[in-house]
Amino acid sequence: MSGRPAERGELVRSAILGLLGTRGSTSRADIARVLEVSPATVTQVTKDLVARGLVRELEQVPSRGGRPARLLGLVRSAGGALGAKVTADHVAVVDVELDGTVRSSTSHPFDPDAPTAIDQLADILGEAMDDRGGQRLLGIGVGIPGSVNSQAGGIVSAPTLGWSDAHVGPILRSALGVPVLVENDVNTLAVAERLYGIGRTHSSYLVVTIGRGIGCGVVIDGAVYRGAGGGAGEIGHIPVTVDGPLCGCGSFGCLEAHIGDAGLVEQALERGVIGARGTSRGLLAAARDGDETARQIYADAGEMLGRALAGVVHTVDPEMLVILGEGIDAWPFWEPGFESAFRRHLLPARRGLTFVVEPWDEDKWALGAASLVFATPFDASGASGDQGQLVRERLDAAPFKASE
Ligand SMILES: [Zn+2]
Repeated sequence: MSGRPAERGELVRSAILGLLGTRGSTSRADIARVLEVSPATVTQVTKDLVARGLVRELEQVPSRGGRPARLLGLVRSAGGALGAKVTADHVAVVDVELDGTVRSSTSHPFDPDAPTAIDQLADILGEAMDDRGGQRLLGIGVGIPGSVNSQAGGIVSAPTLGWSDAHVGPILRSALGVPVLVENDVNTLAVAERLYGIGRTHSSYLVVTIGRGIGCGVVIDGAVYRGAGGGAGEIGHIPVTVDGPLCGCGSFGCLEAHIGDAGLVEQALERGVIGARGTSRGLLAAARDGDETARQIYADAGEMLGRALAGVVHTVDPEMLVILGEGIDAWPFWEPGFESAFRRHLLPARRGLTFVVEPWDEDKWALGAASLVFATPFDASGASGDQGQLVRERLDAAPFKASE
């Protein structure tokens, strides 16, 4: 694991929690080995986590030849979080435990155009708070398909929702009385990767989404790079053609207008792959049935994405890429075009860059939003601001439950 020395301790804490959350109880020696950090660092960091009631000592187990090793495990009851993902027609909500386990997930119809839309969002989250019983709630994370001024501020501009300078954070905080963190939805996935995924072993990477939109979370030295106004990583609006299709942002020829779901469906319609009421599911079904035109549409999309990402890689120089999103089921048809274009357009020294493609389920967006809350104790960059401080205070007040 690399990273600046000042952030290294924060990264290791985050990585240890993520490891215990995903692997279950683990000995200090195994933690050191898996995360490639020194045993002394693990001892020091876990001491702090135990003192904070986030991690507990478990029973001793025999180890090969040496003295018995003591296992460490997460104290799940130290707190939970709610995560919500807002879309143009519904809100997905998950209730998540400290180790990333989803306790429940629900979906609620939602009309972002309604004058009272944000109050409705508060009502949905209020019901979710009521439903979760007595478990300690550390806070709520909200993922939005748009730009957000800061996680703690929560002032949102989201053209696809019709929201401009919407006061999502302030309205939710005053209605619900708990810490609320708001972030661009793709950035929430980048935070989740940092806690539970490749961020455990890599400190600079890109999280690329395909589906309704085309997005990119940029993680540099363990922190999500948000840019001056929270708009970094909006690769969907890279202009790729001079007179291409109209984009939701009002411009023409954006990457997303070509290869987002709506753009692909439009091409499939024009080329007779699907009928007037056809959808992206119809296009995928055609490709799976061997329709050459359908496959060509995806391969062309892959090629366009590969070219654009080669440019992003040259700008950011990440260690690796993760590709995911609700459109990932079609990836086998994107990949032929993507792989060759991506490699061809990379400088020779970067050509071996690895990318991983992750499976998708609909909870993932909302789980990402919840991870905003769990990331706050390890927030070296200060992105979570005063709301992160409130979450930390709630965590520090958590009782140590040795019985769990
Ligand atoms: Zn655009």
